[in-house]
Amino acid sequence: MLLVVCHIGFAKNALGQNNIDGLRIWPSPNTTRLVFDLTNTPKFTYFPLANPERLVLDIENTAKNFDFSKVNNESNLVKKVRYSKAKNANSIRVVIELSKKLDKNVFALQPTKPYGNRLVIDFTDTSAPTAPQIVLDAKSSNNRDIVIVLDAGHGGEDPGSIGPSKSYEKNVTLGISKRLATLINKEKGLKAIMTRTGDYYISPNARPQIARKHKADLFVSVHADAFTTPQPSGASVWVLSMKRANSELGRWIERTERHSELLGGAAEVIQNTANERYLAEALLDMSMDHSLTTSYDLSRDVIKQLGRVTKMHKKTPQAASLAVLTSPDIPSILVETGFISNPKEEKNLNWSAYRQKLAQSIFSGIKEHFKSSPPDGSLWAKWKQETRTHKVRSGESLSLLAQRYNVSLSQLKQVNNLRSDVVKIGQVLTIPRT
Ligand SMILES: [Zn+2]
Repeated sequence: MLLVVCHIGFAKNALGQNNIDGLRIWPSPNTTRLVFDLTNTPKFTYFPLANPERLVLDIENTAKNFDFSKVNNESNLVKKVRYSKAKNANSIRVVIELSKKLDKNVFALQPTKPYGNRLVIDFTDTSAPTAPQIVLDAKSSNNRDIVIVLDAGHGGEDPGSIGPSKSYEKNVTLGISKRLATLINKEKGLKAIMTRTGDYYISPNARPQIARKHKADLFVSVHADAFTTPQPSGASVWVLSMKRANSELGRWIERTERHSELLGGAAEVIQNTANERYLAEALLDMSMDHSLTTSYDLSRDVIKQLGRVTKMHKKTPQAASLAVLTSPDIPSILVETGFISNPKEEKNLNWSAYRQKLAQSIFSGIKEHFKSSPPDGSLWAKWKQETRTHKVRSGESLSLLAQRYNVSLSQLKQVNNLRSDVVKIGQVLTIPRT
């Protein structure tokens, strides 16, 4: 049945006139993606023009009926999109005015729900400064920050899963990730870097590369789950597996992640064989064992904390070969914060207090892990070496002990994970050395 429908559709498309149904402009700091939504598969050619920089796009068999002036454009790279005199009566010429010389990648994408035919243009500013040197050299320092790269899943034209009330996963993941980043950056010795800070697309392959660039100690990808039925609920934590996914649901997730990979970055996936080569090399890396063990231990700490604020869909770490968990050398976890396909959880995931609770519990899990196993060269490793303990006796208060050991009250509370100033007799406190 489906085949017949597709066939008729194709026959009609082949004969029919094409239309631009929409234009979406997705800016990120150093790139901008333009997506033209089209009724049919586009037949196009393009060429660049300099002084001023432009990209000229000719699309055949297409009418000039879409108004570019109404499109929201917040890009610093793309100044304007407009029509120009077409080369013949059947085609249109679109001129994209650029603010400077940019790398371009132009390709068409087949219809994939929820999108139809698309013509995609990626502009990249290769002259933009990369990460500051101070971050790249972080690991050489003796009391460096522990670097945690937070990856808000999906973004831009890739909405991720869509809930029954039309909530987009990409917004949920960004909301939770931003809260998590704030918590991490408030903590001395920890530093959070986000793969995206706004609503724009980054390919699944590029995300772990950001972690590598920043020499991350940990990569945390934040997602919300979905299933074909509304019943499943709860959170789960995933780690990289060399084997195939170990459950039916795992395979399902694997497929949807691939799906969004195709949705947003088909051209890149096909063109970029360097990634595969890298992966093969990295598999031989001796650091892999350590990284996988760390990922597994950490995911258990995160599950323990998440279990205090939400139901766990899976009580043990799950292993899968997900697109963003491709760094065998960097401890990496993927947190599915809940099922957006479950109406109750969708509501929760949209609630800011609930997002804060989730962020707080993921944070507690990360903190607990790095407190007991701080990475070499980090400030926390130094603190751990320098710590002593004290057993609380009758009549001793926290402020008294802080005074006696010549440490600040806040540091004493932080090191011991205390929320109040109350201590019990017999309680063993960690005393940081000054
Ligand atoms: Zn996702």
